[in-house]
Amino acid sequence: MESIQAVKGMNDILPGQIEWWQRVEETARRVMEDFGYREIRTPAMEKLELFARGIGDSTDIVEKEMYVLEDSKGEKLALRPEATASVVRAFIQHKLHADPLMQKFYAIGPMFRHERPQKGRYRQFHQIDVEAFGMDDPMLDAEIIYMLRIFLERVGLSGVVLHINSLGCPECRKTYRKVLQDFLEKDAETLCPDCQRRRLTNPLRTFDCKVERCREALEGAPLLLESICGACSDHFERVKASLYALDTPFVINPRMVRGLDYYMRTTFEVITDRLGAQNAVGGGGRYNGLVKDLGGPDLPGIGFAIGMERLILLLQQEREESRRSPKIFIAALDDAARQKGFLLTQQFRNAGIETEMDYEGRSLKSQMRRADKFSARHVLILGEEELARGEIQLRDMTDKSQKNLSLETVVEAMKGIYKQ
Ligand code: AMP
Repeated sequence: MESIQAVKGMNDILPGQIEWWQRVEETARRVMEDFGYREIRTPAMEKLELFARGIGDSTDIVEKEMYVLEDSKGEKLALRPEATASVVRAFIQHKLHADPLMQKFYAIGPMFRHERPQKGRYRQFHQIDVEAFGMDDPMLDAEIIYMLRIFLERVGLSGVVLHINSLGCPECRKTYRKVLQDFLEKDAETLCPDCQRRRLTNPLRTFDCKVERCREALEGAPLLLESICGACSDHFERVKASLYALDTPFVINPRMVRGLDYYMRTTFEVITDRLGAQNAVGGGGRYNGLVKDLGGPDLPGIGFAIGMERLILLLQQEREESRRSPKIFIAALDDAARQKGFLLTQQFRNAGIETEMDYEGRSLKSQMRRADKFSARHVLILGEEELARGEIQLRDMTDKSQKNLSLETVVEAMKGIYKQ
């Protein structure tokens, strides 16, 4: 009988992998608790209306990505695509706002979005989520961003960049919405069908579009950050000042809009360039109107979520990189290539880069095995075809990516990669 496979985009986490998860979760708990956050667990399924009202009807998450089902009584339910709306619901339902010790929470668990699976993007994924209620002070924005940074540092992640922006308040957005709609009008016909619709319903969302012609259309667009009101601008300035005081480096990215409608004022994202298209490790922002919109008191809120799969992929990549010090193995496939490889090996060594090659004319497979034993960070593969083109193939052994380099400049190129 044919065996049954897991649902596409939903992964098992097996022993051998789970230890990474345990370590990340443990570190998260320790850091969040040091900053005064307490754990909360909410159900994986909620009433559909919570997300439609909370996240926004015209966001991709609600329009296209939610797993929705109807129970036998005809009630519409959804698997949670994110945690904030659920935590806010629980905060209101249990009147936690009345207890000063119940204002800061963290939650760890699975989320569900029907997206096209690829590296770093799944249909069931896990988030570490943080929410703080009741404080509008920009110092809290800086503190929560600082906590995110400290967590990533303690868990051992490096090489990420913090992007921040301000989306202003609903008043700033009202004025800007019209300005952006007018700007996009001249190119309206060339926008993708989604953006043609977004232009009318939720123009800010067009900044999230990955389609090239929409990106081009937005190139000279007026930016919301340049037109936020005095109070929002002052708030943002004070967030920045506190981040400076906390020695937390950031870049301002006025094009970052985030995929959920509830954000206002400060938004932020932690970005990597090592996960292909999925470049956000975590992100969040302020959502001052959300508690009220979901039927609670008019209390401000701010939070963020980290994607655990992406974080663990990066940590594993980094571990692999550090296992492999800057070393090159040259795999030559015939006599002529071996001659050239021999010269290159000496040139690399002369440039201070540890290099090995195989002189015995073994198969490529066996040479790759030797490269692995040697813990080479890079393998340079040279065969008849490459030689004829004046090129050499570079294989990065940490992420298995490949590209061709010119034979003439390969020594300089590798020196550049290793910064020698
Ligand atoms: P968001 O709630 O969209 O702001 O996402 C917060 C974080 O969750 C992102 O930065 C990702 O790390 C992670 N994330 C979001 N969607 C997915 C997905 N489909 N698969 C894996 N991780 C995701």
